[in-house]
Amino acid sequence: MVTDDRSRVATPTNSGVSSGLRVRVDQGACTGDGLCVTRAPSVFEHDIDGLAYVKTADGDLLTEPGARTVIPLPLVDAVIDAADECPGDCIYVERPDGTLEAGPGS
Ligand code: SF4
Repeated sequence: MVTDDRSRVATPTNSGVSSGLRVRVDQGACTGDGLCVTRAPSVFEHDIDGLAYVKTADGDLLTEPGARTVIPLPLVDAVIDAADECPGDCIYVERPDGTLEAGPGS
């Protein structure tokens, strides 16, 4: 039987609650496959160049390369999953002190 399992697609239940973690994408290594956009569409989005960028909690796309955004608490697991599985190894999840929580080199 085929089921539509959307349990790993996260949407914010309270986007105003910050986890204290921030995330950025290295667009120079992004493949544009869209895994992150599928996992956490409230945090990642493709720009017209086909690469992934991060968004603010208000949904504004931050098109400056390497821009950081805070991760709403309900989306931490989805963003860390995206960083762990990112084919380009180019999603960095950072703690408040700048050390890595997830991503290349963590
Ligand atoms: S998962 Fe990684 S490589 Fe794929 S679109 Fe997102 S940032 Fe780019």
